[in-house]
Amino acid sequence: MLTSICVFCGSSAGKNPAFSQTAARFGELLARNGRTLVYGGSNVGLMKVIADAALSEGGRVVGVMVDYLVGKEVAHDALSELRIVPTMSERKALMAELSDGFVALPGGIGTLDELFEIWTWSQLGFHRKPFGMLNVDGFFDPLIAYLKAVADQRFMRSDHLEMLLVDDDPARLLERMAAYQPPDLPKWVGGDVSG
Ligand code: AMP
Repeated sequence: MLTSICVFCGSSAGKNPAFSQTAARFGELLARNGRTLVYGGSNVGLMKVIADAALSEGGRVVGVMVDYLVGKEVAHDALSELRIVPTMSERKALMAELSDGFVALPGGIGTLDELFEIWTWSQLGFHRKPFGMLNVDGFFDPLIAYLKAVADQRFMRSDHLEMLLVDDDPARLLERMAAYQPPDLPKWVGGDVSG
């Protein structure tokens, strides 16, 4: 059951208006499906757009923030719940603990850092939760091409590449996440990547 979905996305809105439109659609969809949105707790960029959209549909939204950022007054003040933690590492760990699955929307290095950490933990077998990308207007295409090159060069198993669910449709992405079965292939540190 994907009761709580963690969304990683830009603290900026980006250039393409489709990013905000999709973030709003996704927030509304989560709320209408009765799912909790877990996110970084901020009131800027796409983060604000998705939180506001979920709240406007009566959804439950939980923010997880480091106290340093709360002090800078970027915390959203109308969330269902705001959890405050001392470090960025604890923040990512708490977002992961509170969530049944993870979705990255367009964003910058903060978004990528969060997604890649979840992916790395999954590759090592620390969790079996689904994670994916909402590929709005092909935003992630260059990154996906690069990741294929990483697998082609045998730095990643193709099964581990396929863990990442990529879709341009929010509802379909959630359906695929609900049906997700992680591969039973632990990554042996220092081992041969031939798959
Ligand atoms: P970025 O993609 O670099 O804009 O960073 C966005 C991601 O990093 C979000 O998913 C947040 O969890 C975190 N983040 C970055 N900036 C903020 C902020 N001002 N408030 C809360 N979280 C932030």
